[in-house]
Amino acid sequence: MLYAQVVLPLAQPMYTFSVDETLGVGVGDAVVVQFGSSRFYTGIVWSITDQRPDYPRIKPILKRQYTTTLISPETQRLWEWIADYYMTTVGEVMRMALPSLAKPSATSFAEIDERSIELPKESYIALCEELRSETGLAEYVARHSRRAPRRTEILDLISASALERGYSDGFVPRRLLDISSDQLLSLRNKGLIITQERDIQGDEGVVDFLCPTLSEAQNVALTAIRTAHSESKVALLHGVTGSGKTEIYIHLIADALSRGESVLMLVPEIVITSQLVERLERIFEGRVTTYHSRLTPLRRGRTFLRLAGSAGGELIVGVRSSVFLPLPRLGLVIVDEEHDANYKQSDMSPRYNARDMAVVMGRIYGAKVVLGSATPSLESYLNGLSGKYAYVELKERWGDGVLPEVVVSDTIRAVKRGERKTHFNRDLILDVERALSGGDQVILFQNRRGYAPYIQCRTCGYSPRCPHCNVTLTQHKATSRMECHYCGYNIPTPTQCPNCQVQDLSLMGFGTEKAVEEISRLFPNARVDRLDGDTSTSERAFKSIVERFEARDTDILVGTQIVTKGFDFEGVATVGILNADNLLSAPDFRATERAFQLMMQVAGRAGRHNDRGRVIIQTAQPKHPVIQFVALGDYHAMARVELAERRSFGYPPYSHLVRLLLRCEDYELLRRASHYVAGLMRQKFGGRVMGPVSSALEILRGEHRSEVLLKIEVGASMQRARGMIADVVRQTTDNKEYRGVKIIIDVDSW
Ligand code: ADP
Ligand code: ZN
Repeated sequence: MLYAQVVLPLAQPMYTFSVDETLGVGVGDAVVVQFGSSRFYTGIVWSITDQRPDYPRIKPILKRQYTTTLISPETQRLWEWIADYYMTTVGEVMRMALPSLAKPSATSFAEIDERSIELPKESYIALCEELRSETGLAEYVARHSRRAPRRTEILDLISASALERGYSDGFVPRRLLDISSDQLLSLRNKGLIITQERDIQGDEGVVDFLCPTLSEAQNVALTAIRTAHSESKVALLHGVTGSGKTEIYIHLIADALSRGESVLMLVPEIVITSQLVERLERIFEGRVTTYHSRLTPLRRGRTFLRLAGSAGGELIVGVRSSVFLPLPRLGLVIVDEEHDANYKQSDMSPRYNARDMAVVMGRIYGAKVVLGSATPSLESYLNGLSGKYAYVELKERWGDGVLPEVVVSDTIRAVKRGERKTHFNRDLILDVERALSGGDQVILFQNRRGYAPYIQCRTCGYSPRCPHCNVTLTQHKATSRMECHYCGYNIPTPTQCPNCQVQDLSLMGFGTEKAVEEISRLFPNARVDRLDGDTSTSERAFKSIVERFEARDTDILVGTQIVTKGFDFEGVATVGILNADNLLSAPDFRATERAFQLMMQVAGRAGRHNDRGRVIIQTAQPKHPVIQFVALGDYHAMARVELAERRSFGYPPYSHLVRLLLRCEDYELLRRASHYVAGLMRQKFGGRVMGPVSSALEILRGEHRSEVLLKIEVGASMQRARGMIADVVRQTTDNKEYRGVKIIIDVDSW
């Protein structure tokens, strides 16, 4: 008898089941098991041994669920790594990874068995045998081309596709042929073609791809990346917006695919990447598989199954969860816009960062890794500086493209001079006017997500900060106090500015909706649209807003950070950043970095195609170093200053941040538990512990929340730290007094 350790999609350790050898079960297979008295699950066989474990009763594996082995040894190692590093279980990783293949438990065997999905077959089409012979088609075409031109054309197309794409048996996947079903049916009825249903294969066809010709600078960068890869180094591609990073990726992708390897290209948000997918499709026709949460669970399940059975040569473009897919012969991982916060999953376990996973995957799969961005994260940049990554820079836009001119517009001065109407300075109004009268388009950026009410002096632009944590304080209306969201330091909300002593402090912030209203009043003839979380709840709504703007049916697009991401709009001459101050005042140690990234990214939307674009930044702090760095487009200066601050306050990339989030319906209990946890943590970690503080979201779904933060300096043993944190959590949850308090651990918290 054999015994299998099986992972179940639960926050539980693995359990052992017996294996009947006739089932043909192996490591990595999905199996159905009974767990508890009346629950059935899909599990994954993690290991098999002939040693009977020491339990009295061992239940049998009931069935092997899919004929394809789902999990490769590399995937196993990756999942184990994630579970270990992010302090969760492999079961929770599995629950995340197999959204539709295995997720729900069932109350009967039949129920779970029915839920198995089958992989659809794919139609392949070939000419009939007679026409496939050397002269067959030519003769047929000669005889019929006059009477039935369309028919001979189609037959020609099928034959040519098979040849060009290297389908040696003459069978071409139906999806690659642009021929209607009616036409195919009629050809089949005439006996001219044969169709076959086959398992869907990765496209093993063409290996010669028509890649764009690179500029000299791009070629230099490509060579540098290839050199880095030959030394098994991660490459960080720092290329300004419009420098043609995608063109470089395309060459690297072609390299990998022509070796029969698979490529994973991670993007921060799939809705904004339709332009990218189209571009890739043009070159790697028929190869691109997209993967994201807006696909139906069935589609995602089928993609997972198909990839599990594939031999390689796949090109997957997907969001962060794509790291959990089977990646046959993975040769290259690209992380585009690697600085993007969306790569970190914050709201659900495992709380992983896909950018960091990409680097781990490079090691586990032996794959090459490229991180790309116009504004790299300071984590990656520091790795570039230290030589851990190969740092590759592209400083100029491709072709005749020039970076936009950045104008800083002082709102305080504008107010004093009577040059501000509602939220718009005269500088910006004039620029919008000019763009519109020249038939160009305008993007107005107003950050609202992560918006926290902050206080600013309207005379000098000052906002109060925490002296210990170097973040702005957040106003709490209920208590009339300002509090630090990291350490809890708080002061009564001042009535006069601590900086210039004038009584001119006020609560700031306004949203996109208001901006639309105001700009429409200023430009009654302009067609104004809004792109943000509220207007783009569905992919269709999102697409139609973007398409209207692309088609120039909209003149002014007002949006949140969604407009900063990777769009390539032709007609944009002016970009307005309506309120840079609320970026600078975000209560977050990454505020400076994020503000710089957002402003640079949104600025990058201007003047990509026509003349030099203009970017107008409205701010009460025109002298603020970050504003100056954006104006100069000087990433390196920003990074130098910000890294120094991070180092002196012990923030990432000089430390790892671990956040313990406590939740409970009973506020008093939560308060006591938080202090207990913070106390235990201090016993172990001393001054590295901050808090407890109430969370930014104090009450969510009837639960109160609080958090304790821990900074672990880089170089200290994370392994040991994780062990000590686990002890604290166990000690608290085992304590009867704190029953009902949930504790969540977020490693490398954002
Ligand atoms: P990035 O991703 O760095 O912002 P893109 O790859 O989107 O830049 O390139 C910006 C624009 O320049 C795109 O429209 C792209 O088609 C064009 N481009 C860049 N490099 C080339 C090239 N080598 N050949 C043709 N077009 C290019
Ligand atoms: Zn603080």
